[in-house]
Amino acid sequence: MRLRQFGAALLSAATLVGGLAACGSSGPSSALAKAKDEKKLTIGVKYDQPGMGLKKPDGTVEGFDVDVAKYIAKELGVPESGITWKEARSANRETFLAQGQVDLIVATYSITEARKPKVTFAGPFYLAHQDTLVRADDTSITSLDSLKGKRICQVTGSNSWKNIAEGTNKESKKVDVTLVPAGAYDECITKLKGNALDAVTTDDMILAGYAKREGSALKVTGAPFTDEKYGVGLKKGDKETCEAVNKAITKMYQDGTIKQLFEKHFSGTGLNFTATGAPPAEGCS
Ligand code: GLU
Repeated sequence: MRLRQFGAALLSAATLVGGLAACGSSGPSSALAKAKDEKKLTIGVKYDQPGMGLKKPDGTVEGFDVDVAKYIAKELGVPESGITWKEARSANRETFLAQGQVDLIVATYSITEARKPKVTFAGPFYLAHQDTLVRADDTSITSLDSLKGKRICQVTGSNSWKNIAEGTNKESKKVDVTLVPAGAYDECITKLKGNALDAVTTDDMILAGYAKREGSALKVTGAPFTDEKYGVGLKKGDKETCEAVNKAITKMYQDGTIKQLFEKHFSGTGLNFTATGAPPAEGCS
């Protein structure tokens, strides 16, 4: 009898220890820990934005964000072969991070006050500016003000349409526009060409990539009205990875890589690299 009780106690102790071990093995504590232990990272990038994040027919991805992500991964100890790419659309970014579907997001991702409660941002690693893309024969749209009454693209989860409709721009001006919904920016370009809307207004780097691809059919107005602080999105609270990514960003400016990457993807588009150093870090919170 006593022996059986002892046996039962031993069994439940073993179950408890087993349970705790299972808990501990449920995943690394941070993206940095995963990078160091497994030499692997899953990174969210755009798949439909030439110049920034584009999936090619052969299945590889390319662009400025993609190259920045590769550099950062390497600094965290992960070679390119250890990266799994995942499409992060504007609307998926916060959810992907919260649910652990990706370790890092580098996807034209602006650091905003509204996103900060949900995301820990490293960076910024670059400063973009919101501008406007229109059909080449359109002479009526030249500035933020002239968007009044026009149909603009509203990408779900993106900040760009809010910067116009809600006035979060340098002029603090709410402009009365008609919002035409779309799932991603490539869809906006199709709609613009098909006359289903009048303007695509978002980050100048995104627009430059499409303008280059589309040739003479479309033109960028060249009248920017926001600062977009491109950050690296991390799971909320992952400060240790954030600090490590910030170190990589500093190095990327010091060794000249960021300028090289910018020129690789944007030379000849009309956009120039003017930064003299990394933008001031926001701090990991
Ligand atoms: N950078 C802006 C944002 O993070 C617009 C581009 C995008 O939606 O990816 O919302």
